[in-house]
Amino acid sequence: MARYTGPVCKLCRREGDKLFLKGERCYTDKCPVVRRNYPPGQHGQGRKKISEYGVQLRAKQRARRYYGVLEGQFRHYYELAERQQGVTGENLLRILESRLDNVVYRLNWASSRPEARQLVRHGHYTVNGKRVNIPSFRVKPGDVVAIAKKSLDSPKIQAVTEASGRPIPQWLDANKDTFEAKIVALPNRDQIDLDVAETLIVELYSK
Ligand code: SF4
Repeated sequence: MARYTGPVCKLCRREGDKLFLKGERCYTDKCPVVRRNYPPGQHGQGRKKISEYGVQLRAKQRARRYYGVLEGQFRHYYELAERQQGVTGENLLRILESRLDNVVYRLNWASSRPEARQLVRHGHYTVNGKRVNIPSFRVKPGDVVAIAKKSLDSPKIQAVTEASGRPIPQWLDANKDTFEAKIVALPNRDQIDLDVAETLIVELYSK
C-alpha cells in the first residue's frame, strides 16, 4: 500500500501551516512551521506570486497531505464524491473523514494521522468486532470502532490513550472506559476543522 515516505515537516512548510503530522512535536516550538515559516528549498523565501491554478493546486495538496492520501486515491475519492448527491467538495471531505485512520486519530487513539495509519496497519483496531488493518477502510453510520482487546495492554496504545486529547467531534460517540466508539453520522462541513477551500479542489479537477 503506497504512502508518502519523505520528510513530513517540509509538507507543512510548503503549505505554510501546521498539518499536525508528527504528534506531540507539532504542539511545541520545535515545529519547523514556527521556526521557519516559509516554503522549503533554495528559493523558498523568494517566491511571492501565485497563479489561480497555483491557489487551486495548493488547496488540493493541503487536503491530500492533511489526510495522507496519494494523488491517485485522492482523485478516486473526488470521482466518488462527484457521483454522490449533494455538494461535491463537502462529499469529498466526508469521504476523507470516514477513513479508518482518520477516525482513529479523531478519537485520540493516535497522536497523528500517520501514526494512526501505522497502528491500523498493525491491527490494533476493530470495526464491528472484526479486526481491520486497512487504513483506507471507510466507516459508515452505525459502525462501532474499538481498540482490539489484546491491544489494550500494548505500551504504545496505552501511551496514546493516556496522552491529553483533542476534542472528539460530535459525529463520534466515544466511550472512554470501553475504548469503543459508534459512528453516529458522517460529519457535516461545519464539523470538519480542516482549513481548506474545497471549492477550489472542485474547480481544479473540473478543468
Ligand atoms: Fe508539521 Fe508537526 Fe512538523 Fe510542525 S512539527 S511542521 S506541524 S509535522
